Amino acid sequence: MIDFHTHLTPREMGTAIRSLLISEADKLTGQGVFSVGIHPWYSDSSDINSQLQSLEDISKIVNVIAIGEIGLDKSRGASLEEQIELFEKQVQIAEQNQKPVIIHCVRAWTELLESKKRLNPTTPWAIHGFRGQSEQAKQLVDSGMYISFGSAILNASEILQETIRTVPLNRLFIETDEADVSLKYLYTTVSKIKKINFRNLEEQINFNFTEFFKKVESGKWQVSGESL
Ligand SMILES: [Zn+2]
Repeated sequence: MIDFHTHLTPREMGTAIRSLLISEADKLTGQGVFSVGIHPWYSDSSDINSQLQSLEDISKIVNVIAIGEIGLDKSRGASLEEQIELFEKQVQIAEQNQKPVIIHCVRAWTELLESKKRLNPTTPWAIHGFRGQSEQAKQLVDSGMYISFGSAILNASEILQETIRTVPLNRLFIETDEADVSLKYLYTTVSKIKKINFRNLEEQINFNFTEFFKKVESGKWQVSGESL
């Protein structure tokens, strides 16, 4: 099973993308795969430029398979204008290194979609920890994004269940994020809501993972970077 996004040390077998801040870069090892980025909550840090410089270096490491979580959050951090600027700079780093992007977005969906349109990125984007309505999910999927669901699905309202049903199987990921929950239980929950066999769901998400982390190069995708 694949855990698309976690801040904890994975406790189950399989692949987990561990999400780190720049300040946690010492946790990068040759084992496992990581995403690294400047979280919008810390977009008002005084050392943003040096963090961006570090991210440029870190993003070249082969185990750093994605840039994230990065994004926009109207409830915390710097002004929205500053957040958009920081987000787009990080997307540029992702583009330069051909790494996909893992996104944290709170109440800034219009701005996020505008950025996507403006930047027209070549690497795919995924929204992590999505808990919005199906209309919102549909807009994001239509713009080419993937959607990852976390522990909120364990107590999903009818609205969130409808969202999960709306997201196509080939755009779906599942994550534990900060929750100490069983990944298998999350997969089971999604398989019930989507009325799909557990094994088929697992295979589909493995396939999505391969698709998401390939790099366009003469029509072929492959993971890029330097070894640690
Ligand atoms: Zn997270």
